[in-house]
Amino acid sequence: MSHQSSAIVLGASIGGLLTARALSNHFDRITIVERDLLPDCAEPRRSVPQSAHAHGLLASGYRVMDHYFPGMMQELNALGAPIGDIVGDFLWFQYGHWKLRHASGLPGIMASRPCLETAIRHRVKSLPNVTFLEGTSGIRPMFDSQIGRVTGLTVRRQDSQDEERLTADLVVDVTGRGSRSPQWLDEWGFGQPQVATVTVNVGYATGVFERRPGDFFDSMGALVQGAPTTTRYAAILAAEGNRWIITLAGTVGDYPPTDLTGWRQFAASLPVPAVHALVSKARPLKEITNYRFPADQRRLYECMKRFPDGYLVIGDAVCSFNPVYGQGMSVAALEAQALDDELTQGIQGLAARFYRRARKIVDIPWAIATGEDLRIPQVEGIRPLGFAIIGRYLERLHVVAAEDRVVCRAFMEVLNLLASPTSLLSPRIAWRVLRPRNSTRKEQQDPMEARSRVA
Ligand SMILES: Cc1cc2nc3c(=O)[nH]c(=O)nc-3n(C[C@H](O)[C@H](O)[C@H](O)COP(=O)(O)OP(=O)(O)OC[C@H]3O[C@@H](n4cnc5c(N)ncnc54)[C@H](O)[C@@H]3O)c2cc1C
Repeated sequence: MSHQSSAIVLGASIGGLLTARALSNHFDRITIVERDLLPDCAEPRRSVPQSAHAHGLLASGYRVMDHYFPGMMQELNALGAPIGDIVGDFLWFQYGHWKLRHASGLPGIMASRPCLETAIRHRVKSLPNVTFLEGTSGIRPMFDSQIGRVTGLTVRRQDSQDEERLTADLVVDVTGRGSRSPQWLDEWGFGQPQVATVTVNVGYATGVFERRPGDFFDSMGALVQGAPTTTRYAAILAAEGNRWIITLAGTVGDYPPTDLTGWRQFAASLPVPAVHALVSKARPLKEITNYRFPADQRRLYECMKRFPDGYLVIGDAVCSFNPVYGQGMSVAALEAQALDDELTQGIQGLAARFYRRARKIVDIPWAIATGEDLRIPQVEGIRPLGFAIIGRYLERLHVVAAEDRVVCRAFMEVLNLLASPTSLLSPRIAWRVLRPRNSTRKEQQDPMEARSRVA
């Protein structure tokens, strides 16, 4: 890397912060440009409206963050964010069955999204080679057509009419789903990336409640997803401040109401009565807030024939997934780590190398999210060959994972983006899934039942 090399990160949300952390290993100066003024404490902010809603961190994301910010998870824990085993302390109800509750060794933390983002931001702010330009909008990257590369970014501060030019060796767009990179690339003569979408029309409605010792099977939360074709979900997440952040969600327009009475009735329609029991007795601490998410959306940058040097796109700007699967932050973390690796070979040919890696990272959560979404009959999209057979195999796998530790662990590794979905078809797992069983029960309502069988 040349002397005084510099990079710009556009966007200071979780994706931008992790990108800056990765870049800090390779560049002399990193500037993060963010249009919001960033709060000092853990508060939601205007441009990240999703932060009021339940945000689960997968074990893969946890591991990357723990590696980049040693001790941060313990600091969050000291602030009241529960840390635990993502299978032993967090509960999963899917396809009519609770997953076997056991110590899997896969780590999890339950913190509100603003709390997690603030902790990461404080860590990134303390890096000596990173500067924040907050309250500053990125207007457009500067593209030099003579040399075919991006050379910096024009920005405008909130209190000014004037544009400033910041030069850099690398500009990374981490502005989320609304990223304008497709238009910019088109204007520079590179064309636009193809876009894959699966329309899901998910509605979120989230309440915050007091959390008391022993609540909800003495767990730190749960994901409740009914039969494969049902449209209703709940994410119940403990958070700092002895709170539950409880998101009810419905796909294909089956939106949860935002008045407390209607919202509680929606909870009563879930396949697990414990959710309604919790929300009808717990003390509400805030109004219900809502969010609408139209479609899984993936921009296929890896398929573009040409891409400018000195430029990259990362995070939700590349792919934003139906949030009920809790993947976005972990995918951004895995991409940041891949970028870090690729930069050890320098900046030459970076885009092609990075997108090869990013494609593999995104393929898996994309297959999981869209695969699940397409099981809902009303969701439009092309079901690949063998889709129904895989679906039946998965249904069987969910039954077995309620009582078989090996199958449960294998499934959780996939769900947490630590293993490929094809690992579930390996002979070791397929045999356990398909062999005849004596005790394949229909439905269980109590996750404690599953735990007691292991002990
Ligand atoms: C309702 C909902 C629930 C979710 N739940 C989960 C979950 O449970 N688990 C999980 O892992 N993920 C979840 N996600 C996804 C997660 O929020 C994102 O993956 C995560 O925030 C990383 O996104 P990002 O940093 O790429 O972009 P974003 O979070 O969208 O941030 C983009 C940033 O860029 C800034 N910006 C945009 N344009 C400009 C500009 N021109 N100039 C300067 N700054 C700009 C914005 O202000 C913002 O700070 C959820 C998403 C939604 C919508």
